Amino acid sequence: APALMWFRRDLRLADNPALLDAVAAGDGRVTGLFVLDPALWDPAGGPRRDHLITSLKALSDAMGGKLVVRRGDPADVVPELAKDLGAVSVHSAADHGPYGQRRDAAVEAALDCPLVTTGSAYAIAPGRVLNGQGNSYQVFTPYFRTWLEHGWRGPVDAPDSVEWIGKRGDALPDASPVEGAGEAAAREHWADYLDTVAGYDDERDRPDLDTTSRMSIPLKYGEIHPRTMLADLARKRSAGAEAYRRELAWREFCADLLARNPQAAWKPLRSEFAKMQYDEPGEAFEAWCAGRTGYPIVDAGMRQLAESGFMHNRVRMVVASFLVKDLHVHWKYGARWFMRNLRDGDLASNSLNWQWVAGCGADASPYFRIFNPITQGTKFDPAGDYVRRWIPELRDVAGKAVHEPWKLAEPPADYPAPIVDHAEARTEALRRYDGIR
Ligand code: FAD
Repeated sequence: APALMWFRRDLRLADNPALLDAVAAGDGRVTGLFVLDPALWDPAGGPRRDHLITSLKALSDAMGGKLVVRRGDPADVVPELAKDLGAVSVHSAADHGPYGQRRDAAVEAALDCPLVTTGSAYAIAPGRVLNGQGNSYQVFTPYFRTWLEHGWRGPVDAPDSVEWIGKRGDALPDASPVEGAGEAAAREHWADYLDTVAGYDDERDRPDLDTTSRMSIPLKYGEIHPRTMLADLARKRSAGAEAYRRELAWREFCADLLARNPQAAWKPLRSEFAKMQYDEPGEAFEAWCAGRTGYPIVDAGMRQLAESGFMHNRVRMVVASFLVKDLHVHWKYGARWFMRNLRDGDLASNSLNWQWVAGCGADASPYFRIFNPITQGTKFDPAGDYVRRWIPELRDVAGKAVHEPWKLAEPPADYPAPIVDHAEARTEALRRYDGIR
């Protein structure tokens, strides 16, 4: 009898241990399934939908067009197809997110055959990195040390040959095709990037240079596995490659924290922050979303997000800090906006990074360290190129003066004046923080 391979966030054939298990479990015939689950599809914005659909098409092409896509609740769709096929078992990589855990329990309960999970979207599955007492970590640096010592398996090849069995499926929704989606594109992009990784630690904070890898996108959809990337990095032996590996560990730390604290998706990890006083998201929040706060580095980031579905990490930190500490709006509104607009929107990385910036995460930056948007701009976008790239109204302003357009003899008429005074907003943020300490 055949086996059923249920693809979720692992849209690839290479380095996919769950797929190898599916091939080995039955008579070698496998049906590949992707379920378009309204619970995940509906809240996803255009950038994630477009990428997903393009990636599913690429996966199906690699399977000779045999990928079966069905819409609906996985707890109905997966058991129905498994039964129809007479599948020996259903195979997948484990999902440790809060929704994934609930969904998989429901599917397992409804199945007549076993649901076998093999591996995860991480080099080390969430919950596995523990200290000497068997406890998990709250702080990144010791987590990272143990993560390195723990080690991970080497990558595995794609199965030699799979006899894919197609079945009737639902049509894919319309989407705008995305460049660079799919397993082959991910691997090609990674191979190109690896040639430049030596410069990563020097350049990673510079949005104007824009030389980071953008691998968050293929990692989000599992078009490549971090194990594959770590094996390649191990051959590089440069400070850049080591710095890069550390960032991959941050991704794993976020997933570890969320798996242990599912409520951390939208609620503060540090309980005293439940009492923090925030303002309702009104006009100021709308100006932030639209990239019209009057602070150029903030606005450039928000426009990069809206126009391209991506934002540089340094700028993500700056705009997040600005929303929480200058506009005093709860981070969950910003996190939701990010999830709707980012192509790499990932619940664990997004929420835990927002918590880090907002000061309420486990290992958060101290609350009183409040980013000054002007200093951040002049330090990390020293010539102002990033701002000019994303804000057409400021294109005629030369050099770093672009970070303080209100100081120009003739400020551009179509660009807004700052909606808050940073010094006053900072004092107010600290006053509110004193209230919960
Ligand atoms: P690179 O600098 O090339 O980094 C390499 C890889 O390391 C990334 O692809 C990513 O997988 C990982 N990584 C790097 N920094 C982090 C980090 N701080 N936390 C976790 N993993 C990291 N990342 C997402 O993948 N999805 C999100 O939804 C997301 N939301 C964020 C929200 C905020 C407020 C902040 C401050 C950060 C967020 N990040 C998120 C983390 C980080 O900004 C992105 O992973 C990074 O900008 C992606 O670009 P890159 O692949 O070029 O990064």
